[in-house]
Amino acid sequence: ALDVAWAQRWARQTAESISEAKSTLIDLDREIGDGDHGENLDRGFQAVVTKLDALEASPEHISDVLRLVATTLMSSVGGASGPLYGTAYLRAAKVTGLAELDAHGVVALLEGALEGIAARGRAVPGEKTMVDAWSPAVDAAVGAAGRGASPVEVLVAAADAAAEGARSTGPLVATKGRASYLGERSAGHEDPGATSSAIILRAAVLAAT
Ligand code: ADP
Ligand code: MG
Ligand code: MG
Repeated sequence: ALDVAWAQRWARQTAESISEAKSTLIDLDREIGDGDHGENLDRGFQAVVTKLDALEASPEHISDVLRLVATTLMSSVGGASGPLYGTAYLRAAKVTGLAELDAHGVVALLEGALEGIAARGRAVPGEKTMVDAWSPAVDAAVGAAGRGASPVEVLVAAADAAAEGARSTGPLVATKGRASYLGERSAGHEDPGATSSAIILRAAVLAAT
């Protein structure tokens, strides 16, 4: 079930997956940014694990876990991605008052995250950012939920679409964030933030199965 225990497994799995992908994310950000994306996120999610370990009582709701992730990322990640992911988890937490997510709850969580990133970064699809992973993820989730898919199937559809979305950023020219300073030269490399977003959504699936 996609309940509060799942939300905690998701946060811990994300820390593990980001740690494994750290050097890949550093390399991607070195190509079109300043090379710190892997370090930034690894530090942030390790801090999340430390906070979860230190909790005296288990969190009651999914939204409590998402809010803990949000505030921890905001205070420990820095760069562009800290406030962006922080806002994503904060907005996701607001729409997740349920004890257990049904398919529409998964859609609402993902929509909240996308809205948070888009609002904070003023980014739209096609600008070679995280939005290019989250936006197709939301579309795929809406489609799957509409076809009557189970909550986990909705998550899988979202994670698959996010991975494809991250790959699709390769040829794009960046118009937001540091990579935009490179102009046309930003084309030919996948966006680090879109790649980490796909990892975060894959971790949600791994935590559920
Ligand atoms: P910084 O660029 O400050 O070093 P990071 O390297 O941690 O921060 O994060 C870079 C990622 O942040 C980019 O790959 C991109 O996906 C995302 N990003 C940057 N600016 C924006 C924005 N305005 N909107 C959405 N995402 C953005
Ligand atoms: Mg960077
Ligand atoms: Mg930086």
